[in-house]
Amino acid sequence: MSDSTCRLFRFGRVYEPRLVDATDLLVCGERIVWVGKGLEPPPGWPVELVEVPGGWAVPGFIDGHVHVTGGGGEGGFATRCPEITVEEIVSSGVTTVVGCLGTDDVTRHPESLLAKVRSLELQGITAYMYVGSYSVPPVTLTGSVKRDLVLIDKVIGAGEIAISDHRSAQPEPHELRRIAAQARVGGMLSGKAGIVHFHVGHGPGGLDPLFDIVDHTEIPITQLVPTHVNRDARLLEEAARFIARGGVADVTTYDFPSPGAVPAWKAILHLVSRGASWSHVTMSSDSNGSSPEFDAQGRLVGMRVATIRSLLEDWRRLVLEGGAPIEEALRVVTTNPAAVLKLERKGRLAPGMDADIAVFDRDMNLLQVWCRGRKLWG
Ligand code: ZN
Repeated sequence: MSDSTCRLFRFGRVYEPRLVDATDLLVCGERIVWVGKGLEPPPGWPVELVEVPGGWAVPGFIDGHVHVTGGGGEGGFATRCPEITVEEIVSSGVTTVVGCLGTDDVTRHPESLLAKVRSLELQGITAYMYVGSYSVPPVTLTGSVKRDLVLIDKVIGAGEIAISDHRSAQPEPHELRRIAAQARVGGMLSGKAGIVHFHVGHGPGGLDPLFDIVDHTEIPITQLVPTHVNRDARLLEEAARFIARGGVADVTTYDFPSPGAVPAWKAILHLVSRGASWSHVTMSSDSNGSSPEFDAQGRLVGMRVATIRSLLEDWRRLVLEGGAPIEEALRVVTTNPAAVLKLERKGRLAPGMDADIAVFDRDMNLLQVWCRGRKLWG
């Protein structure tokens, strides 16, 4: 699949995600080798020129929470969600995804998740997975979270483990501490992030189980990542507290059906207004998870499937409606998730990094998407 062509890109602007004094990127094979201005390859050099004069090049987005094999099923078998396709991913400006299981770990398995992740990778994007599901103890491939991290290249953490939710396994504090410990040590041994990605529900416990781990173990807060923190205003306040203690919180771009939900772009602005650094917030889509809708009698009346498009849309709204500086807004979907997930070649347009490039026009419409040097969209 890899292609060793060298390409010289000429754009209108390059956001690294910082706006840099450069318009050109030289890409050889899968990597960026040079960023600058006015490079003229000597005549006869095998360099393909790609010119997008009005285009703004930004790092391809990283979506840290995607049900790539389809989630859902919480309203019965009719509510099982479909798998995601590469076309859906890249047409949303996303070049890296982390796949996960959700509520259903009976008819969905880490083995098929791993196979799907490998398939996405072979189709040109970059894909990883969390091992586990809502359940505690977590479902694994080789017997433990630690072993999976060490032995399976694509496993970069555990998740999404459910807390404070009626669908969770109602885990005891010591069980969660043990998962965090397994993930931390597995991450250390394998040189990976080893984070635990926590699905946080509506329950009154909120983020208490995570504060418990931080207060009662030596595990750093950065090893624990709560998601769906924009589910309601109270949880968002807890997320602000979590960030104030040094953590990173993830907001979900998919529209929660619940009345108190805060749209992701507004949640990011709220957290920043409460003192959060722009580097401590991330956004993910929860794509291909479901939202079954029930009537007053509890009958299933409809089901919506979360789409990865929401990540792109919320990011645009963060800038266009929320007035966030484009460079800060970019960090939320590029450098921040890359740092949390320890993806050292991702999230920036700089020499040595993977050539994952999303190209926008000045109105922030997506024009092209390149993944590891290959054009996959536009
Ligand atoms: Zn979830």
